[in-house]
Amino acid sequence: MPKEQVVIIGAGPAGLTAALYAARANLNPVVISGNQIGGQIAITSEVENFPGFDSILGPDLTEKMQAQAVKFGARLEIDEVTEVDFTHGAPLRVKTYGEEYEAQSVIIATGASAKRLGIPGESEMIGRGVSYCATCDGFFFKNKDVLVIGGGDSALQEGIFLTKYASRVRIVHRRDALRAGDLLKTRANADPKIKFVFDTVLDTIEGNGKVQAVQARNLKTGQVDHWDTDGVFVFIGHFPNSQLFKGQLAMDEQGFLVVDTYMQTSVPGVFAAGEIMDPIYKQAISSAGQGCQAAMSVERYLESLHDTELAK
Ligand code: NAP
Repeated sequence: MPKEQVVIIGAGPAGLTAALYAARANLNPVVISGNQIGGQIAITSEVENFPGFDSILGPDLTEKMQAQAVKFGARLEIDEVTEVDFTHGAPLRVKTYGEEYEAQSVIIATGASAKRLGIPGESEMIGRGVSYCATCDGFFFKNKDVLVIGGGDSALQEGIFLTKYASRVRIVHRRDALRAGDLLKTRANADPKIKFVFDTVLDTIEGNGKVQAVQARNLKTGQVDHWDTDGVFVFIGHFPNSQLFKGQLAMDEQGFLVVDTYMQTSVPGVFAAGEIMDPIYKQAISSAGQGCQAAMSVERYLESLHDTELAK
């Protein structure tokens, strides 16, 4: 069984930054990447607010972060954590499909996943017109009609991206005021392919093997309409990927891990960074910053363990 100083779970901006810092501190970190290196940023189109880059594609930013962490000695394992055991304290146990690790410390950076609408037709037609990733699936909607659901930054940013392919993008929002920031609002409003539909939700997604139509309902008037469309892109926020840690680590009612000022969770030696612990900021750069903080705290934690051993 490999014995590690630090195991990092997750390889988005938080995990990869933690890996960079831990590697530079000679902690020889192992990063269990999960099924998507880069996390949400890997499936984002343009990133224009990561300092140092005017504009960079999400996958390119991921590649740079990964290469930088690996250059300093981080080991990336493309594997998934299936179980953890933090209940007996050190050593902490992390089990993956291929390995079982004993670790003195763990950084959890498992991020968040896209929320679903939870309406009839949605899960049945994922990959057949229902999508949560414009970068992955936009190409398949050349000259087609698509709906984007949501009124936040993701809906507008990805809606704008989809105009590269689609003939028309209707952004359907449940209120009449967008949550998105002004820059994206201005850009979306200026785009002739984008139309906004406010105060409206989808009741069902309809199709025969692939999306063909939706039933939409105006929340103010109660009017129900059927619209033909080829695709439904859902961007209604995310939920933290904390299922694995239920019953072992303190979390809030939404499932975000609770950490102290040093990014430490309720179990000594277990730290968390990024969208798994951050219900507020949720930016690539804030996740990267939290990854840096967690790795620096791990370094101090391991030093304190060492000092305690020497004092015995
Ligand atoms: P978000 O800000 O939480 O927005 C989610 C949107 O979906 C809201 O408009 C919400 O409506 C709507 N919604 C939620 N549940 C719904 C449901 N069941 N049915 C219909 N609509 C629903 O999520 P996000 O847009 O993914 O952004 C997450 C974070 O990433 C934010 O901090 C954002 O600033 C950041 N981000 C930034 C950029 C950028 O700066 N370029 C790009 C992408 C994301 P209400 O408004 O009514 O609540």
